[in-house]
Amino acid sequence: MKLGLVIMAALLAAQPAPAPAPAPAPGQRPGSCRFNSAALQFRGSPVEQAQCLLRPVGKYGKLSSAPAVLPPSLAAQIGRPIDIDKMRFRGLLSAQGRDEYLLGGPLDAPIPRARYFVIHDTSQPWLGDAASFPPDDAPQLSELASYLGPEAVAHVFVNRLGETAPGHDFAEPWRASKFELKSLDDAAPGLFLHVELVQPRRRDRAGRGRNDALAPLPGFTPAQYDALALLYVAASLRCGQWLIPAFHAVLDEGMPGGHDDPQHFVLDDFAAALDALRQRLADDPPP
Ligand SMILES: [Zn+2]
Repeated sequence: MKLGLVIMAALLAAQPAPAPAPAPAPGQRPGSCRFNSAALQFRGSPVEQAQCLLRPVGKYGKLSSAPAVLPPSLAAQIGRPIDIDKMRFRGLLSAQGRDEYLLGGPLDAPIPRARYFVIHDTSQPWLGDAASFPPDDAPQLSELASYLGPEAVAHVFVNRLGETAPGHDFAEPWRASKFELKSLDDAAPGLFLHVELVQPRRRDRAGRGRNDALAPLPGFTPAQYDALALLYVAASLRCGQWLIPAFHAVLDEGMPGGHDDPQHFVLDDFAAALDALRQRLADDPPP
């Protein structure tokens, strides 16, 4: 969602104004994860980067200052060489009736420059002052066509049922955050991959204007976590190493007009979906 006066008013009303963040030094990018534009990565080891980039995202995009607590199974793999057998993964996709072209593109096409797997919520559809959220299988939550086309904002979209649709192949450099658009110039094509999870929003009557601050709880469905695990494996397979997951709102930290997504994303649920996927791959006979 768009930040701005709405957020500022809410924050100012709720608590004393925090001390202003120090201005970035020349050449330093905004945000506390500290992107190094020469090395094309954030500060620290891959796990330390994930701990920064996956800090919980609160209402109106308020970020936790504490590092994210990574589930052990996720922390054990981030940044390491991929250890998934492509043929077994293909077999699993086939058993599920999934087409790899709907999971970011062909598994045989490498994307060696990719490093970051950025998780978004669509903040759409916007339901205004509706009293509640519709069921996850409601047509307005399951349609994906409205997100697609040449200017699709992300690489892949996932509806509440776990169905996926391609915006752009993962191999296509595509910028989907203020951070990339404003801070990186043309320095890092293909470094960030973007996945949008459909999440409806409603207006917070306590907020101002046409805000979209109310998100459902839980924020995402089990089917969305399962599909996200498939996408994370597919992208990491093509890269050759386990990508570093990141939240959009954290990427945009400190930037005017930064976004507030994803809301109510549970890392333990994502890790559990990944663990279950690994187990399936271990249990299934080789194709
Ligand atoms: Zn986003």
